[in-house]
Amino acid sequence: MSANPRVVIVEDDDELRELLVRGLRSADLDARGLSAGADVIRRAASDPPDLVVLDIGLPDADGRDVCLALRAQGFRAPILFLTARDAVVDRVSGLDAGGDDYLVKPFALAELEARVRALLRRAAAAAPEPVTAGLALDPATHRTGLGGRWVELSATEFRVLSALATRPGYPVRRSALVAAGWPPGARVSDNSVEAFVARLRRKLATLPGAPSISAVRGVGYRLR
Ligand code: CA
Repeated sequence: MSANPRVVIVEDDDELRELLVRGLRSADLDARGLSAGADVIRRAASDPPDLVVLDIGLPDADGRDVCLALRAQGFRAPILFLTARDAVVDRVSGLDAGGDDYLVKPFALAELEARVRALLRRAAAAAPEPVTAGLALDPATHRTGLGGRWVELSATEFRVLSALATRPGYPVRRSALVAAGWPPGARVSDNSVEAFVARLRRKLATLPGAPSISAVRGVGYRLR
């Protein structure tokens, strides 16, 4: 471990992004800035960083959807959300989406640096966990694809599928799917989750070789 840890900061506010990049660089982190969710998804696939700082309010996609897509494509490094909204629901849904921590704007640079260091230490201590769903997920267009074929999903279907794809092979609680897919506080019956899953199954079936969604009695669903 000779090189400095590589941190990607995804923030569409140019001034804030530059400030954070400069601040983390002066703290001996190899920091770079990106302004769009699609950019970090591409970067993580080709050259994954050691940590991502991810703004929730991005112009091209909700940061939580970007996080779900990163996790679904197997990105395991820590993700720290930045949010302008100091609401409990946001923090909860961010962590449900596969984030590791969050900071509410405005924050002190020293606080960001301390959180980044803590997450990097935690990640170095944890065993790697292999995850591959085989499905490509595009949060900007809400499409999923396999082998060059694509199918369009609704925003809710996209979030539900992303949540399932985060842990392929493992059951995901119905309540976790509701938290990922629906607005905070929405009342969603088991029947309507079932209906969504049925629609998602039909769409996945149009992609040859795609995993299928099976029900796990008393728990929820899993992708395999
Ligand atoms: Ca923003």
